[in-house]
Amino acid sequence: MFGEEAIASLRAALDVSPDNVPLRLHLAETLLAMSRGIDAEFEFKTCLNYAPKNSSALLGLARSCWQQKKISQALVVVENLIQKSDASGAAHVLYSRLMLAEGHVLDALAQYKLAIEVDPSAADAELAAQLGVQKDGEELGDVFEGRQRAGTDDSDDAINIELQRPDLKFSDVGGMEAVKEEISLKIIYPLKHPELYKAYGKKAGGGILLYGPPGCGKTYLARATAGEISASFIPIGIHDVLDMWIGSSERNIHAIFEQARLNRPCVLFFDEVDALGGKRSDFRQGSGRSMVNQFLVELDGMNTDNSGLLILAATNAPWHVDSAFRRPGRFDRVVFVPPPDEPARAEILRIQCQNKPTKDLDFAKIASRTDGMSGADLKSLVDRAVEDKLRVAMKSGGLQPLTTADLLAAAKLFKPSVREWFSTAKNYAMYSNQDGSYDDVLKYLKLK
Ligand code: ATP
Repeated sequence: MFGEEAIASLRAALDVSPDNVPLRLHLAETLLAMSRGIDAEFEFKTCLNYAPKNSSALLGLARSCWQQKKISQALVVVENLIQKSDASGAAHVLYSRLMLAEGHVLDALAQYKLAIEVDPSAADAELAAQLGVQKDGEELGDVFEGRQRAGTDDSDDAINIELQRPDLKFSDVGGMEAVKEEISLKIIYPLKHPELYKAYGKKAGGGILLYGPPGCGKTYLARATAGEISASFIPIGIHDVLDMWIGSSERNIHAIFEQARLNRPCVLFFDEVDALGGKRSDFRQGSGRSMVNQFLVELDGMNTDNSGLLILAATNAPWHVDSAFRRPGRFDRVVFVPPPDEPARAEILRIQCQNKPTKDLDFAKIASRTDGMSGADLKSLVDRAVEDKLRVAMKSGGLQPLTTADLLAAAKLFKPSVREWFSTAKNYAMYSNQDGSYDDVLKYLKLK
């Protein structure tokens, strides 16, 4: 039995014994193999609710985050796993991949060698080739300052730049009124009324750095900003820009800005900008500096015209963002995107339930039972309730509207995801808040 059929029967069996961890792991692995990272992540998390230390569930959770390119989330899980003395070869391989994605080639190499030492069958030809490791695991690639030397053939280095035209509007984004206002004032109005800004002697330009816990709508809001002013939208994950070949990352950054300038008005959105931070990575102090400099040259628009470019960036780890980015004219507004409050949660639930068969949904009630959930958690909750309803509808052959009880039942399955972020952020906000950047986090935590 394969695919959907296998999943349906595994789910049916789990309905009868929801705490059967091996069975749920099997379901999660099947979903992962089908590239359904979001669903797999949910099932691995459910396994962990029953068996918090289960290594297979932890590794699976990390792999499903990796599949969704949620690199920092995957890292947090794997870092815990590989500290155990019996960490598997597969865990070291995944850690190696994540290190490589973060630009730490030397660490990636060390982890890979450890992986095949622990378990030779964990060898991965593709990763080995990327790291320049020969079959016997001995030969090293040509690694220089943590990055590999320029290759002879760089013809397929070019980054894939995706141009979108979102039809989202600010009204599709629940809550976040203060953040929307900040974006309007700082980057939308100057674009629409350049003469006004000039009259008051204000210089347009620069960008906004959004930070906050995962899944609280930073990317979504950036897309809605583009939709709001009918601009093109170019989303860029910094991990995709970072290239192990010297010189390629700089070229990638230049190509991205050029593409945006050709498609004005354009919202250029950089996600995971912490990956450019100077503190985290060995290579970024050496030749990698030139990549950060290239970014700053493009951002400052010294020799070019950046009018019509709206630049937004996002991070879960603002404390790792290179301080040069925060200077005036660059990302001089740093805006906290908090988890949605109760009215915002009700609004997000209403937005997520739009165009679905529903009956008398009491959004306020569901919102009051979902404290600490991110927008992404709420979306998954609705998806889960819809999926369950669909299964009932398929059995009964009739359309079954979603009810408040369905959503409340789904809510019980979810663990709010923002708490872990706040426990890390609290430390930075309390002990590394010299310029007051994290005052909003302290206010949110009622510590100020
Ligand atoms: P990350 O830091 O992990 O990149 P993020 O803050 O960029 O996360 P998004 O990817 O924008 O979060 O949010 C995930 C999904 O959650 C969105 O695609 C959207 O469906 C839903 N969502 C989040 N916040 C909101 C909101 N305020 N209104 C409506 N939907 C939301």
